[in-house]
Amino acid sequence: MSDIIHNLSAVKQRITGAAHDAGRDPATITLVAVSKTHDAAAIRPALEAGQRVFGENRVQEARTKWPELRQDFPDVELHLIGPLQTNKVRDAVALFDVIETVDRPKLARALAEEVQRVGRSPRCLIQVNVGREPQKAGVEPEAVDQMIRIAREYQLDIAGLMCIPPAEGDPAPHFRALADMAARNGLAVISMGMSGDYPAAIAQGATHVRVGSAIFGSRPPV
Ligand SMILES: *Cc1c(COP(=O)(O)O)cnc(C)c1O
Repeated sequence: MSDIIHNLSAVKQRITGAAHDAGRDPATITLVAVSKTHDAAAIRPALEAGQRVFGENRVQEARTKWPELRQDFPDVELHLIGPLQTNKVRDAVALFDVIETVDRPKLARALAEEVQRVGRSPRCLIQVNVGREPQKAGVEPEAVDQMIRIAREYQLDIAGLMCIPPAEGDPAPHFRALADMAARNGLAVISMGMSGDYPAAIAQGATHVRVGSAIFGSRPPV
């Protein structure tokens, strides 16, 4: 348990260091603590230590853990960082404050219809497949501007962009490319950087880093 608190504080210190190295104000960088696969008992110490922004990659799993935790910590901000099927849109809009994985017009449309229906409008990020990897979700870099236009036409609250760069090679050029796409579209939120590369992402302008294993420890293999 105290491992998590220790890890959390170490990650926050590294964020502060990376921000200073980049000449940035650390307060402009939000840590999204990725709690996927970890149960409520493992998440609670992070909440008690003051962490409020969390990421989950499965709607169903989040539904089993978060309503209970939220009763005790109502100011939590929950991010969906995994793929979203249109048949889970209703639950996703009800549960999440930020949906980071909008990656196709059909999903944008389904989200917009649900937002209209319930009057709850999560902020949305467009996921970009910066490495053009066939196995990865996200819109191709050349299709980003059009996807943003479509999502805005549906009146979704498009706040920014998200990416997962290729596991191999230097992520910095991909991070820089995502920051450029956000800038030219007037988008403030840039979600990039995970346990292995968040300082590099901060150097390229990340406003949100999504850190899981460096806080909660390794996950069981899926
Ligand atoms: C799991 C996950 C993370 C966190 O990964 P770690 O390497 O454990 O920090 C970040 N972003 C996404 C989209 C993820 O699925």
